[in-house]
Amino acid sequence: MQESIDAVRGWIEASTRIVVLTGAGVSTESGIPDFRGPHGVWTKNPLAEKLSNIHHYLSDPEVRKLSWQHRLDHPTWHAKPNAGHIALVELERRGKLHALITQNIDGLHQRAGNAPERVIEVHGTLHEVVCMSCGWRGPMQATLERVRAGEADPPCTICSGILKSATISFGQALVPEVIDRAMQAAEAADLLLAVGSSLQVYPVANVVPAAKAAGARIVIVNAEPTPFDDMADAVLAGRTGDVLPRLCAKRGHR
Ligand code: NAD
Ligand code: ZN
Repeated sequence: MQESIDAVRGWIEASTRIVVLTGAGVSTESGIPDFRGPHGVWTKNPLAEKLSNIHHYLSDPEVRKLSWQHRLDHPTWHAKPNAGHIALVELERRGKLHALITQNIDGLHQRAGNAPERVIEVHGTLHEVVCMSCGWRGPMQATLERVRAGEADPPCTICSGILKSATISFGQALVPEVIDRAMQAAEAADLLLAVGSSLQVYPVANVVPAAKAAGARIVIVNAEPTPFDDMADAVLAGRTGDVLPRLCAKRGHR
């Protein structure tokens, strides 16, 4: 693996438009479990998948009440960026980061210091709520205060519609402009770095073949194999908090 890391460091050195795609694996070392990894939320409790489905959320008040309780205790509120997030800030500081596409909803890339305008949150954010009827958006913490004060399923204060975190649930369509931006970034990349994603969630996984078709080198960093390993120029098996700092630091600094 050491040899591959050195080769990839050289590619990074030579690249000027790196696009990074991150999945839940980049945040597990910050204490936020992934869904599909060995200790994933769904791996341990297959019923949790039902809670993440938009149809159950909209039709069943009990699912919404349970979802608000989960949001109250979500590990994101206590999580801090880890060495993997910080390494990606270093990549931006070196002027090499074209875009950071993330499947994560935790906001940790922005908290680590990546410029918000470079972060493309294809699955939305847990830090805001949205009304499913009128589209009103507001900060998550203010709505969580209402839950703490006794509203088990707080309605929209404007139209009484159903409120939900501003995340894309399973069964829910992505925001077309956001996924379009991600695909355009992938097509402009000279190197695509896919880290901590099982690359099983579509359409975002299409970023990998799109970048490949546009001529970018593909580098995958993940603890487990992914369906795109055969397409990659390098596959680095390891922890993102360990591998990313070694990849992203300037030559001579490590
Ligand atoms: P996933 O759970 O499908 O896959 C995560 C992958 O990362 C797995 O292959 C796992 O083996 C690997 N992994 C876990 N920890 C790692 C580490 N420290 N180093 C290297 N690899 C590691 O996640 P996904 O592909 O991102 O898809 C699930 C969807 O659920 C996401 O698209 C996202 O919207 C949502 N989600 C978000 C968060 C978050 O915001 N932190 C957490 C869980 C789920
Ligand atoms: Zn509303």
